Amino acid sequence: MLSIKNLHAQVDDTDILKGVDLEIKPGEIHAIMGPNGSGKSTLANVLAGRDDYTVTAGEILFEGQNLADMAPEERACAGLFLAFQYPVEIPGVNNIYLLKAALNAIRKSRGEDALDAVEFMKLVRERMKLVKLNEDLLNRSVNEGFSGGEKKRNEIFQMAVLEPKLAILDETDSGLDIDALKIVAEGVNAMRSPERSMILVTHYQRLLDYIKPDHVHVLADGKIIKSGDEQLAKELEERGYEWVKQEAAAA
Ligand code: ADP
Ligand code: MG
Ligand code: MG
Repeated sequence: MLSIKNLHAQVDDTDILKGVDLEIKPGEIHAIMGPNGSGKSTLANVLAGRDDYTVTAGEILFEGQNLADMAPEERACAGLFLAFQYPVEIPGVNNIYLLKAALNAIRKSRGEDALDAVEFMKLVRERMKLVKLNEDLLNRSVNEGFSGGEKKRNEIFQMAVLEPKLAILDETDSGLDIDALKIVAEGVNAMRSPERSMILVTHYQRLLDYIKPDHVHVLADGKIIKSGDEQLAKELEERGYEWVKQEAAAA
């Protein structure tokens, strides 16, 4: 589904990603962990195609298509979804209106008919239940005045409506209390399927108690320096990152 080879990327002429390799197969969940400032969000933003992020070497293939050739909205239409670490507030833009426009743009690009208001609301009600999202949030401006937990649940709700092939969730667990964390994890688990892959960027092992990853990677100083299974996440929780860095330096 996703094949990243020797990816180098810059922000403001500074090298941030320094040779990332990552292969993700359909249905897999990959957790990316690592110290602050190691480039995790940069990787997510490069995948989403945000401005300010320049790929300087390497390649990213998404279902065989070269992502670098695609605008952010083309990536979304191809089935990529990015939940931002800090979800933006968009005053004046209705949450549900934006979602409907996004969904119908994606459907159109696939040659499918737009959903009408009734069909769309049926889908929305069904998917809201996954994350126990309060109905009045639907008609507020996007993320405006949402609590941290509501923003994160709104992201998972958006993912559930858009049904991407590959979802990238950047620190979806940050700022969540235990109950909200469980709700978000249940929403993510409900969206697991053999056709859908996910990248979970997370600082803490606790999210991975609820969402079992197939692979865990440590990103440090712009490179994946160690990969393993969920056991690696537990080891990181106990021992921190320093030993992994030393191991990588020794090798
Ligand atoms: P992580 O998500 O792993 O904590 P980031 O990818 O956010 O790390 O940041 C990696 C490095 O890139 C940091 O040193 C950060 O300051 C820098 N960086 C990220 N985004 C920008 C930006 N838009 N402008 C300048 N520097 C940035
Ligand atoms: Mg950070
Ligand atoms: Mg980050």
